Amino acid sequence: MLLQPFCPCGSQSRYIDCCEMYLRGKASAPTAEALMRSRYSAYSKGDVEYLIQTQYPKKRKKTDRQMLLKTIENTHWMGLTVLKTQKGGPDDRRGIVEFVAQYRGLALTDPIYQLHERSRFVKEDGL
Ligand SMILES: [Zn+2]
Repeated sequence: MLLQPFCPCGSQSRYIDCCEMYLRGKASAPTAEALMRSRYSAYSKGDVEYLIQTQYPKKRKKTDRQMLLKTIENTHWMGLTVLKTQKGGPDDRRGIVEFVAQYRGLALTDPIYQLHERSRFVKEDGL
């Protein structure tokens, strides 16, 4: 039996049963939490295209790609904990996800940081 790696998003599911289908564009994340988790996985996997695609259109800027690449190159993502979600269900247009992401630089000796954020998600038609 092949051991399948767990999804980076911390769901305890296998990657192929979890965020991979969203990153590959086979399905759209159905909830704000799933979207948030898939974006974390995209950071972890270095999937810049997915990060840009799933960003709120008004926030997309020309520099995003380079900034994202730089962040991804210099960050080792260590784990994600979803603390709280408000709305953001399959039928909601909006949702808020509060989460903590742990990360550090690439060196093992780098200090570990925590990113604690409440992110707003908006569902766009046809996405
Ligand atoms: Zn996942």
